[in-house]
Amino acid sequence: MTLLDGKVVADSVYSELKELISNRDNTLSLPCLAAILVGNHPASESYIANKIKACERVGVFSKIIRFPEEISESIILDEIEKINKDKTIHGLIVQLPLPKHISEVKILEAISPNKDVDGFTPYNIGRMTLGLSSYLPATPAGIIEILRYYEIKTQGKNAVVLGRSNIVGTPISILLSRNTEYGNCTVTICHSKSSKIKEIVSNCDILIAAVGQVQMVKSDWIKEGAVVIDVGIHRIESASKKSGYKLVGDVDFEQVAPLCSYITPVPGGVGQMTVAMLLKNTWQAFLNNV
Ligand code: NDP
Repeated sequence: MTLLDGKVVADSVYSELKELISNRDNTLSLPCLAAILVGNHPASESYIANKIKACERVGVFSKIIRFPEEISESIILDEIEKINKDKTIHGLIVQLPLPKHISEVKILEAISPNKDVDGFTPYNIGRMTLGLSSYLPATPAGIIEILRYYEIKTQGKNAVVLGRSNIVGTPISILLSRNTEYGNCTVTICHSKSSKIKEIVSNCDILIAAVGQVQMVKSDWIKEGAVVIDVGIHRIESASKKSGYKLVGDVDFEQVAPLCSYITPVPGGVGQMTVAMLLKNTWQAFLNNV
Protein backbone atom coordinates (compact mmCIF):
# COMPACT_ATOMS: atom_id res chain seq x y z
CA MET A 1 0.00 0.00 0.00
CA THR A 2 1.30 3.45 -0.91
CA LEU A 3 0.18 6.46 1.07
CA LEU A 4 -0.81 9.37 -1.18
CA ASP A 5 0.84 12.24 0.65
CA GLY A 6 -1.16 15.41 -0.04
CA LYS A 7 1.45 17.56 1.68
CA VAL A 8 4.19 16.40 -0.71
CA VAL A 9 1.96 17.06 -3.74
CA ALA A 10 0.79 20.45 -2.41
CA ASP A 11 4.39 21.45 -1.61
CA SER A 12 5.37 20.72 -5.21
CA VAL A 13 2.51 22.96 -6.43
CA TYR A 14 3.56 25.74 -4.01
CA SER A 15 7.24 25.53 -5.06
CA GLU A 16 6.33 25.72 -8.73
CA LEU A 17 4.00 28.69 -8.14
CA LYS A 18 6.56 30.51 -6.00
CA GLU A 19 9.12 30.21 -8.77
CA LEU A 20 6.70 31.27 -11.51
CA ILE A 21 5.54 34.28 -9.50
CA SER A 22 9.04 35.44 -8.56
CA ASN A 23 10.22 35.01 -12.17
CA ARG A 24 7.28 36.93 -13.66
CA ASP A 25 7.92 40.10 -15.67
CA ASN A 26 8.95 42.41 -12.81
CA THR A 27 7.19 45.40 -14.32
CA LEU A 28 3.95 43.62 -13.40
CA SER A 29 2.23 43.77 -10.01
CA LEU A 30 1.77 40.65 -7.85
CA PRO A 31 -1.16 38.33 -8.52
CA CYS A 32 -3.95 39.36 -6.15
CA LEU A 33 -6.66 37.20 -4.56
CA ALA A 34 -9.63 38.87 -2.88
CA ALA A 35 -11.82 36.97 -0.42
CA ILE A 36 -15.20 38.04 0.90
CA LEU A 37 -15.94 36.76 4.38
CA VAL A 38 -19.38 37.23 5.93
CA GLY A 39 -19.89 36.80 9.67
CA ASN A 40 -17.45 35.08 12.01
CA HIS A 41 -18.03 31.39 11.47
CA PRO A 42 -14.99 29.75 13.22
CA ALA A 43 -14.40 27.20 10.42
CA SER A 44 -14.55 29.97 7.77
CA GLU A 45 -12.09 32.06 9.79
CA SER A 46 -9.69 29.14 9.89
CA TYR A 47 -10.07 28.41 6.12
CA ILE A 48 -9.42 32.08 5.32
CA ALA A 49 -6.37 32.15 7.62
CA ASN A 50 -4.96 29.11 5.75
CA LYS A 51 -5.57 30.80 2.42
CA ILE A 52 -3.80 34.01 3.54
CA LYS A 53 -0.82 31.98 4.80
CA ALA A 54 -0.59 30.09 1.50
CA CYS A 55 -0.78 33.38 -0.46
CA GLU A 56 2.15 34.73 1.58
CA ARG A 57 4.09 31.53 0.97
CA VAL A 58 4.00 31.82 -2.84
CA GLY A 59 3.92 35.61 -3.25
CA VAL A 60 0.23 36.23 -3.97
CA PHE A 61 -1.18 39.44 -2.50
CA SER A 62 -4.36 38.75 -0.51
CA LYS A 63 -7.17 41.13 0.27
CA ILE A 64 -9.87 40.15 2.76
CA ILE A 65 -13.19 41.99 2.69
CA ARG A 66 -15.16 41.32 5.89
CA PHE A 67 -18.88 41.90 6.38
CA PRO A 68 -20.98 41.37 9.52
CA GLU A 69 -23.42 38.43 9.64
CA GLU A 70 -26.48 40.70 9.19
CA ILE A 71 -25.21 42.43 6.01
CA SER A 72 -27.69 42.68 3.16
CA GLU A 73 -27.29 40.68 -0.04
CA SER A 74 -27.28 43.85 -2.16
CA ILE A 75 -24.22 45.27 -0.38
CA ILE A 76 -22.27 42.08 -1.08
CA LEU A 77 -23.44 42.15 -4.71
CA ASP A 78 -22.22 45.77 -5.01
CA GLU A 79 -18.83 44.78 -3.58
CA ILE A 80 -18.55 41.89 -6.05
CA GLU A 81 -19.38 44.26 -8.92
CA LYS A 82 -16.64 46.63 -7.73
CA ILE A 83 -14.08 43.82 -7.55
CA ASN A 84 -15.15 42.46 -10.96
CA LYS A 85 -14.12 45.84 -12.45
CA ASP A 86 -10.90 46.23 -10.43
CA LYS A 87 -7.97 45.38 -12.71
CA THR A 88 -5.57 44.99 -9.77
CA ILE A 89 -7.56 42.01 -8.41
CA HIS A 90 -7.18 38.79 -10.40
CA GLY A 91 -9.15 36.25 -8.37
CA LEU A 92 -12.24 36.54 -6.15
CA ILE A 93 -13.68 33.99 -3.76
CA VAL A 94 -16.64 34.19 -1.42
CA GLN A 95 -16.11 32.01 1.64
CA LEU A 96 -19.04 29.61 2.09
CA PRO A 97 -21.36 29.02 3.85
CA LEU A 98 -23.20 32.35 3.77
CA PRO A 99 -25.88 33.38 6.28
CA LYS A 100 -29.34 31.98 5.45
CA HIS A 101 -30.80 35.33 4.27
CA ILE A 102 -28.22 35.54 1.44
CA SER A 103 -28.64 33.49 -1.73
CA GLU A 104 -25.47 31.52 -2.41
CA VAL A 105 -26.52 31.01 -6.04
CA LYS A 106 -27.09 34.74 -6.61
CA ILE A 107 -23.74 35.63 -5.02
CA LEU A 108 -21.75 33.03 -6.95
CA GLU A 109 -23.44 33.98 -10.23
CA ALA A 110 -22.40 37.61 -9.69
CA ILE A 111 -18.67 36.78 -9.69
CA SER A 112 -17.02 37.47 -13.03
CA PRO A 113 -16.14 34.09 -14.63
CA ASN A 114 -12.67 35.52 -15.33
CA LYS A 115 -12.07 35.99 -11.58
CA ASP A 116 -13.92 32.87 -10.39
CA VAL A 117 -10.83 31.05 -9.09
CA ASP A 118 -12.98 28.71 -6.97
CA GLY A 119 -14.47 27.47 -10.26
CA PHE A 120 -17.99 27.57 -8.80
CA THR A 121 -19.83 29.76 -11.34
CA PRO A 122 -22.17 28.11 -13.85
CA TYR A 123 -19.91 29.44 -16.65
CA ASN A 124 -16.81 27.63 -15.39
CA ILE A 125 -18.71 24.48 -14.41
CA GLY A 126 -20.27 24.49 -17.91
CA ARG A 127 -16.90 24.89 -19.63
CA MET A 128 -15.40 22.14 -17.47
CA THR A 129 -18.29 19.85 -18.43
CA LEU A 130 -17.65 20.55 -22.12
CA GLY A 131 -13.92 19.87 -21.70
CA LEU A 132 -13.01 23.50 -22.42
CA SER A 133 -10.37 25.47 -20.51
CA SER A 134 -11.81 26.75 -17.22
CA TYR A 135 -10.96 27.31 -13.58
CA LEU A 136 -11.49 23.88 -12.06
CA PRO A 137 -13.07 23.63 -8.59
CA ALA A 138 -10.12 23.33 -6.21
CA THR A 139 -10.84 20.06 -4.35
CA PRO A 140 -11.60 17.97 -7.47
CA ALA A 141 -8.60 19.58 -9.23
CA GLY A 142 -6.50 18.61 -6.19
CA ILE A 143 -7.63 14.98 -6.50
CA ILE A 144 -6.58 14.91 -10.18
CA GLU A 145 -3.24 16.50 -9.20
CA ILE A 146 -2.63 13.70 -6.67
CA LEU A 147 -3.41 11.05 -9.33
CA ARG A 148 -1.05 12.83 -11.75
CA TYR A 149 1.78 13.20 -9.20
CA TYR A 150 1.70 9.49 -8.32
CA GLU A 151 1.12 8.53 -11.99
CA ILE A 152 -1.97 6.49 -11.15
CA LYS A 153 -3.49 5.22 -14.37
CA THR A 154 -7.22 5.85 -14.61
CA GLN A 155 -8.13 4.90 -18.19
CA GLY A 156 -10.71 2.14 -18.42
CA LYS A 157 -10.99 1.85 -14.63
CA ASN A 158 -14.29 1.66 -12.75
CA ALA A 159 -14.54 4.68 -10.48
CA VAL A 160 -17.20 5.24 -7.84
CA VAL A 161 -17.83 8.71 -6.46
CA LEU A 162 -19.70 8.77 -3.15
CA GLY A 163 -21.52 12.12 -2.98
CA ARG A 164 -22.89 14.47 -5.64
CA SER A 165 -22.29 17.94 -4.18
CA ASN A 166 -21.62 20.83 -6.56
CA ILE A 167 -18.16 21.43 -5.11
CA VAL A 168 -16.79 17.87 -4.89
CA GLY A 169 -18.85 14.85 -6.00
CA THR A 170 -20.36 16.14 -9.24
CA PRO A 171 -17.25 17.91 -10.60
CA ILE A 172 -14.86 15.03 -9.77
CA SER A 173 -17.23 12.59 -11.49
CA ILE A 174 -17.10 14.79 -14.61
CA LEU A 175 -13.30 15.13 -14.50
CA LEU A 176 -12.80 11.38 -14.09
CA SER A 177 -15.09 10.60 -17.03
CA ARG A 178 -13.59 13.16 -19.46
CA ASN A 179 -11.43 12.06 -22.36
CA THR A 180 -8.15 13.13 -20.74
CA GLU A 181 -5.02 11.44 -19.37
CA TYR A 182 -6.35 11.34 -15.79
CA GLY A 183 -9.93 10.72 -16.88
CA ASN A 184 -11.42 8.03 -19.13
CA CYS A 185 -12.90 6.16 -16.17
CA THR A 186 -16.33 4.55 -16.15
CA VAL A 187 -17.91 6.53 -13.35
CA THR A 188 -20.79 5.65 -11.02
CA ILE A 189 -22.10 8.33 -8.65
CA CYS A 190 -23.80 7.32 -5.39
CA HIS A 191 -25.84 9.60 -3.13
CA SER A 192 -28.23 9.38 -0.22
CA LYS A 193 -31.00 7.85 -2.36
CA SER A 194 -28.76 5.19 -3.94
CA SER A 195 -29.33 1.55 -3.07
CA LYS A 196 -26.73 -1.22 -2.72
CA ILE A 197 -23.90 1.29 -2.24
CA LYS A 198 -21.64 -1.23 -0.52
CA GLU A 199 -22.05 -3.65 -3.44
CA ILE A 200 -21.33 -0.91 -6.01
CA VAL A 201 -18.23 0.26 -4.14
CA SER A 202 -16.92 -3.28 -3.72
CA ASN A 203 -16.57 -3.62 -7.51
CA CYS A 204 -14.67 -0.39 -8.11
CA ASP A 205 -11.00 0.22 -8.89
CA ILE A 206 -11.01 3.85 -7.75
CA LEU A 207 -13.14 5.21 -4.93
CA ILE A 208 -13.65 8.90 -4.23
CA ALA A 209 -15.40 9.24 -0.87
CA ALA A 210 -17.10 12.63 -0.42
CA VAL A 211 -20.23 11.89 1.59
CA GLY A 212 -19.54 13.76 4.80
CA GLN A 213 -20.26 10.63 6.93
CA VAL A 214 -17.75 9.67 9.62
CA GLN A 215 -15.72 6.58 8.56
CA MET A 216 -18.64 5.20 6.55
CA VAL A 217 -16.50 3.11 4.18
CA LYS A 218 -15.37 -0.12 5.86
CA SER A 219 -12.98 -2.87 4.80
CA ASP A 220 -15.72 -5.18 3.49
CA TRP A 221 -16.67 -2.45 0.96
CA ILE A 222 -13.28 -2.49 -0.72
CA LYS A 223 -11.88 -4.63 -3.53
CA GLU A 224 -8.26 -5.62 -2.90
CA GLY A 225 -5.87 -3.28 -4.75
CA ALA A 226 -8.36 -0.40 -5.05
CA VAL A 227 -7.25 3.26 -5.05
CA VAL A 228 -9.06 5.14 -2.28
CA ILE A 229 -9.27 8.93 -2.16
CA ASP A 230 -10.90 10.19 1.03
CA VAL A 231 -12.24 13.75 0.81
CA GLY A 232 -14.19 13.73 4.09
CA ILE A 233 -12.95 15.68 7.09
CA HIS A 234 -14.51 15.19 10.53
CA ARG A 235 -13.38 16.18 13.99
CA ILE A 236 -14.15 13.43 16.50
CA GLU A 237 -13.39 13.15 20.20
CA SER A 238 -10.22 11.27 21.07
CA ALA A 239 -9.03 10.66 24.62
CA SER A 240 -5.55 9.74 23.33
CA LYS A 241 -4.97 13.23 21.86
CA LYS A 242 -3.85 16.18 23.95
CA SER A 243 -6.36 18.42 22.16
CA GLY A 244 -9.16 15.95 22.98
CA TYR A 245 -10.05 15.40 19.33
CA LYS A 246 -8.70 13.98 16.09
CA LEU A 247 -9.50 14.31 12.39
CA VAL A 248 -10.89 11.37 10.44
CA GLY A 249 -12.39 10.93 6.98
CA ASP A 250 -15.33 9.25 5.27
CA VAL A 251 -13.22 6.08 5.11
CA ASP A 252 -12.27 3.93 8.08
CA PHE A 253 -8.54 4.26 7.35
CA GLU A 254 -7.30 1.61 9.82
CA GLN A 255 -9.56 -1.03 8.30
CA VAL A 256 -9.34 -0.05 4.65
CA ALA A 257 -5.68 0.95 4.15
CA PRO A 258 -4.19 -2.58 4.24
CA LEU A 259 -6.41 -3.58 1.28
CA CYS A 260 -5.56 -0.65 -0.98
CA SER A 261 -2.89 -0.11 -3.62
CA TYR A 262 -3.03 3.63 -2.80
CA ILE A 263 -4.91 5.63 -0.19
CA THR A 264 -5.03 9.24 1.01
CA PRO A 265 -4.81 9.76 4.79
CA VAL A 266 -6.96 12.21 6.79
CA PRO A 267 -5.43 14.57 7.70
CA GLY A 268 -2.59 14.97 5.20
CA GLY A 269 -4.37 13.93 2.01
CA VAL A 270 -6.87 15.80 -0.18
CA GLY A 271 -7.30 18.55 2.43
CA GLN A 272 -3.76 19.76 1.72
CA MET A 273 -4.55 20.21 -1.97
CA THR A 274 -7.56 22.52 -1.98
CA VAL A 275 -5.75 25.77 -1.17
CA ALA A 276 -2.81 24.88 -3.43
CA MET A 277 -5.16 24.48 -6.39
CA LEU A 278 -6.97 27.72 -5.55
CA LEU A 279 -3.62 29.52 -5.82
CA LYS A 280 -2.86 27.74 -9.08
CA ASN A 281 -6.12 29.13 -10.45
CA THR A 282 -5.21 32.60 -9.13
CA TRP A 283 -1.90 32.46 -11.01
CA GLN A 284 -3.80 31.42 -14.15
CA ALA A 285 -6.25 34.32 -13.66
CA PHE A 286 -3.26 36.67 -13.38
CA LEU A 287 -1.76 35.30 -16.63
CA ASN A 288 -5.15 35.61 -18.38
CA ASN A 289 -5.29 39.29 -17.48
CA VAL A 290 -1.77 40.51 -18.35
P1 NDP B 1 -22.28 17.69 1.02
O1 NDP B 1 -22.89 17.49 2.35
O2 NDP B 1 -22.55 18.92 0.24
O3 NDP B 1 -22.66 16.44 0.09
C1 NDP B 1 -22.64 15.15 0.59
C2 NDP B 1 -23.09 14.20 -0.49
O4 NDP B 1 -23.07 12.88 0.05
C3 NDP B 1 -24.52 14.44 -0.98
O5 NDP B 1 -24.57 14.24 -2.37
C4 NDP B 1 -25.35 13.39 -0.25
O6 NDP B 1 -26.44 12.89 -1.01
C5 NDP B 1 -24.34 12.26 -0.09
N1 NDP B 1 -24.60 11.47 1.10
C6 NDP B 1 -24.75 11.90 2.38
N2 NDP B 1 -24.97 10.86 3.21
C7 NDP B 1 -24.95 9.74 2.44
C8 NDP B 1 -25.10 8.35 2.69
N3 NDP B 1 -25.31 7.89 3.93
N4 NDP B 1 -25.03 7.50 1.66
C9 NDP B 1 -24.80 7.95 0.42
N5 NDP B 1 -24.64 9.25 0.10
C10 NDP B 1 -24.72 10.13 1.10
O7 NDP B 1 -20.71 17.48 1.25
P2 NDP B 1 -19.42 18.02 0.46
O8 NDP B 1 -19.33 17.41 -0.88
O9 NDP B 1 -19.31 19.48 0.60
O10 NDP B 1 -18.29 17.40 1.41
C11 NDP B 1 -18.15 16.01 1.61
C12 NDP B 1 -17.07 15.77 2.66
O11 NDP B 1 -15.84 16.31 2.18
C13 NDP B 1 -17.32 16.50 4.00
O12 NDP B 1 -16.79 15.69 5.03
C14 NDP B 1 -16.51 17.77 3.88
O13 NDP B 1 -16.09 18.27 5.13
C15 NDP B 1 -15.34 17.30 3.06
N6 NDP B 1 -14.71 18.34 2.24
C16 NDP B 1 -13.35 18.35 2.23
C17 NDP B 1 -12.68 19.26 1.45
C18 NDP B 1 -11.21 19.23 1.43
O14 NDP B 1 -10.57 20.21 1.13
N7 NDP B 1 -10.61 18.08 1.72
C19 NDP B 1 -13.38 20.25 0.63
C20 NDP B 1 -14.83 20.09 0.64
C21 NDP B 1 -15.44 19.17 1.44
P3 NDP B 1 -27.72 13.80 -1.45
O15 NDP B 1 -27.22 14.63 -2.61
O16 NDP B 1 -28.72 12.81 -1.85
O17 NDP B 1 -28.07 14.63 -0.26
